[in-house]
Amino acid sequence: MKLQSAYEYLKPIAEAASIGNYADALNTALACVKRCIALDRANIVKMPVIRIVDKDSNSVHNAGELSHDRLYSGGYRIKYHNIQNCEGTEPGSCYQFADSDIEFIDCIAVNDEIIPPPPKVVPGHCEICGRDYDVMDFCVSTDFKPHSVCKTCAKMPERDIKELPQYQRNVIHDAKLMLITEKIINDQTDDD
Ligand SMILES: [Zn+2]
Repeated sequence: MKLQSAYEYLKPIAEAASIGNYADALNTALACVKRCIALDRANIVKMPVIRIVDKDSNSVHNAGELSHDRLYSGGYRIKYHNIQNCEGTEPGSCYQFADSDIEFIDCIAVNDEIIPPPPKVVPGHCEICGRDYDVMDFCVSTDFKPHSVCKTCAKMPERDIKELPQYQRNVIHDAKLMLITEKIINDQTDDD
């Protein structure tokens, strides 16, 4: 049982129980137990640390450290692609794998109990707060999935964003960019 993941549940259980909402507290406790069982049964797999060399700048980083890193398999080989500059490890491209010692990092084979899937996005409703007005629908290259975020959430201060789950933090940062782009286009249109 992982202490950190258990703690994520202890807080809502204690909060629900403190206001007499025992059904919620029980449900959260059951979800916690289910998740811990899933963690105990999960397979630990070894993932090699894959170092990528940028041939232009001679800099080296571990694949996955940068948000634009993508690893994919071509046949039996792992290939690297940077979705920002569309360069990769193919011949003539600006990256190559580093020929250094291969180390391994422990990864866990996940299922829905360990990492619950994010809720489905309903177009026209903000996926962060549920509001159904001032909603921007967009799709960007970060995950290529459709997203709906209202303009209020897109203006959320950084300290509030930090409280959100990781997948929502990414979505809000994309929404912020959409808002800035929209403002630039509107300002240009106003000038005409
Ligand atoms: Zn919202």
